[in-house]
Amino acid sequence: MQTRSCWVEISTRSLENNYRFLESLAPRDTELMAILKADAYGHSLALCAPAVVRAGARWIAVTSVEEGMAARALCPQTRVMVIGGVVSGQGAEVVNHGLTAVVWESAQVDDLEAAARTAGLRAGSLPLHLEIDTGMSRQGTNLEELPLLLARFVPGSPLRLEGVMTHLFAADESTGRVTQNQLSELQKALEIVEAAGLYPDWLNVGQSSVLLSTNGASIAALAARHGMKALLRPGVSLYGIVPRFYPDFAKDAPEALIEARSRLEPVLAFKTAVMSVRAIPAGAVVGYNGTFVATEPMRLALVTAGYADGLARLLGNRFSLLVRGMRAPLVGRVSMDHAVLDVTEIDGVTAGDEVVILGTQGDETITAYDHADATDTIPWEVLTRIAARVPRVAV
Ligand SMILES: *Cc1c(COP(=O)(O)O)cnc(C)c1O
Repeated sequence: MQTRSCWVEISTRSLENNYRFLESLAPRDTELMAILKADAYGHSLALCAPAVVRAGARWIAVTSVEEGMAARALCPQTRVMVIGGVVSGQGAEVVNHGLTAVVWESAQVDDLEAAARTAGLRAGSLPLHLEIDTGMSRQGTNLEELPLLLARFVPGSPLRLEGVMTHLFAADESTGRVTQNQLSELQKALEIVEAAGLYPDWLNVGQSSVLLSTNGASIAALAARHGMKALLRPGVSLYGIVPRFYPDFAKDAPEALIEARSRLEPVLAFKTAVMSVRAIPAGAVVGYNGTFVATEPMRLALVTAGYADGLARLLGNRFSLLVRGMRAPLVGRVSMDHAVLDVTEIDGVTAGDEVVILGTQGDETITAYDHADATDTIPWEVLTRIAARVPRVAV
């Protein structure tokens, strides 16, 4: 029994619909890899991994080997990729759990090769994806060091170069100029790979904003020119968030983006409940440091969600939650486990009423972008900062 009223509802049906819709956008000869890192963007890996597989995903991806092992336990038949890099000593776990590692340093290759030999793997049976740094300076090898890494994939080695990967760092810029530069770097990398006599299957590139713009087609074309297939990596869009582009398209928004705005369904709702209601007189102060002072008699509702649940403290005195289908302002500071709403204008609010922090109630909706704008961040952070202690329930 749940005793504290603060929870997240996950619509696995919406997640499945989103996956199928995104797949319908993918260019021909392209596959999707569902990004499920950070506990499926705070949505629960346990609920989301089986759902995307039901929807047809053959590839799923997480950041770490630990997350990969959890994903493997949930999805025994699906390709599980570890995109954040394998740290030293984890080669055996990659091999034993049938994970696919992204690598870009010799030490990672050493580790995986040793683990593959220990496990007695046949030649060419451990697939790896090699990450190229095409401009982000975060992960990936540069082009100078690429030949050294390619030299590791010799006949007889248990390793096989299955994919070439890169990450685009400005795919949400509507001009697409930075992305085109990155893709021309990637093309140079592919030429070096071919010159080494290697023919990987997959060109592993492209987050949601790529799939929702015309860059998806550029990547598919680049892959085809090199005899490869594109593997696109949507994350946030799977969860029903349509990424913004900068600057926004005044006109000529990509068709896929326009369609996504009407088709993607939010997967997550973050809710709490009214614990008690009280009346306060004019002049009363509310919450820590009395940052709110009542100028007239008011009615306040205490809710059982606070910053330790992921209701950002910054929202105090500058955001509203939904109760009885209406917007109730957060007054005073958000506490660790509680927050206070002004319900003076909302009739009949009583203990037990459901309160929506993120999601829809009646005709009103609060989106992840609303939270992001109010706290100067992005929906990715809003979703992943919902605390682990908040139970995720499938609806
Ligand atoms: C998180 C991530 C993605 C997914 O990005 P979205 O913008 O959420 O679609 C894709 N590729 C890599 C390498 C990532 O880290």
